[in-house]
Order: sequence, then structure tokens, then C-alpha cells
Amino acid sequence: MKKRGSLIVISGFSGAGKGTVAKRLVKDYGYSLSVSATTRAPREGEVDGVDYYFKSEADFKNLIDYNGFIEYARYVDNYYGTPRAFVERELASGHNVILEIEVQGALNIKSQYPDAILIFITAPSVEALKARLIGRGTEEAAVVAKRMRRASEEADEMINYEYIVVNDDLDECVHTVHSIVISKRCELNQNIDFIEVTKKGFEQI
Ligand code: 5GP
Repeated sequence: MKKRGSLIVISGFSGAGKGTVAKRLVKDYGYSLSVSATTRAPREGEVDGVDYYFKSEADFKNLIDYNGFIEYARYVDNYYGTPRAFVERELASGHNVILEIEVQGALNIKSQYPDAILIFITAPSVEALKARLIGRGTEEAAVVAKRMRRASEEADEMINYEYIVVNDDLDECVHTVHSIVISKRCELNQNIDFIEVTKKGFEQI
């Protein structure tokens, strides 16, 4: 019997390194990473279909109408959404799926998928966060300021997550997230079917 994969929602402040953590979970542990659709313009080096599916607002709204997203949200003037087909297919085939999405999306996912694991990745301090955002050098000052304001709002939402993981050391952070997922998969209520199958197995002996 193939066990469904776990759905892992990773959120965190812009600049906390959640994207890097997600990529390492794919590389080190074979997780599937959902590629979101967005109406935001591509940043330098971003590739359509790899980093995001870049969409016009009209195309994005069409996808909403056709139930193409399991969730979508508006964030800093743009739409972002999680394509339904990929997530459903990967979970059904037993893969752990990572969604790297913001707070509204995370809460929306939890209401639809109660077993989803909500993890908030944070930098060690607000100073470290700002330094990383400026250091990334991909955003103009006004955008940095806007994202810091948004991050301060997101700090109020951390309370909605199940796990808070500090990304100080990348290896440690990736290992911690994977450990959370394994631990959750071993919980009793995640293994009721397995228990039933095991009991039936004994009945047949
Ligand atoms: P960025 O523009 O920096 O790539 O992403 C901005 C924010 O949108 C990040 O917090 C990112 O996690 C979030 N985001 C990316 N894809 C999705 C999505 O499909 N749904 C939601 N709700 N948020 C997303």
C-alpha cells in the first residue's frame, strides 16, 4: 500500500533563505517542489517553468476560474498561486511536496489539507534579515522597504505556524525541517491505515 506523501508548507520572511532550504530538501531528500504561477515580472536569472510560471493577469484569472489552483493570494501588488494538478499527482504517488508560499496561502492550505505541516523559516534576527535582503541586491530600496514592512506584518502571523525554524546554519536548518516531516509521518494518527492492514495480516495467519 503506497502511503500518500506529506504536504509541507514553508513560509518565512522575504530573505530568510526559505527558497534555498526548499531546493536543498529536493536535492538531499528527494522532495517535490511545487512551482507556483505568478503575475510578478521575472527577476534577472529567473526561468519560466523553473522558478515560477510567469503569467499575465488575464491568464492567471483564467486559471482561477478553471479551479487550476489549490490556493492563491495577492502579495505586494502581484498574484501568486499553487497549481493543483502537480500537487495532487505528487502526493498521490507518495512524494513529499513542498509549497513555498506566504501566510494567507499557508492558512488556506491548512484548512483544505489538515495534515499539511506548516513551517515558518526565520533569520536569526531582524538585523540579519535586513542585511540579507539588501545583500541579495535584486531589489530596489523601495521594494526592500515594502518587503520589510510586509515582514513585520508577517511576524504577527508566525503564531499560526506549527514549527518555527531558525535558518542560521543552512545544513542544520534543512536537517531540522526533514526531521520534523519524518516525525510527523510516524505519528499514530498518520498510521491508522497501516495498523488496520497489519491487524488484517495477522488475522490471515
Ligand atoms: P517572491 O516575489 O519573492 O518570489 O515571492 C513573494 C512571496 O510570495 C513569498 O513569500 C513567496 O513564498 C510567496 N509565494 C510564492 N508562490 C506562492 C503561491 O503559489 N501562493 C502563495 N500564497 N504565495 C506564494
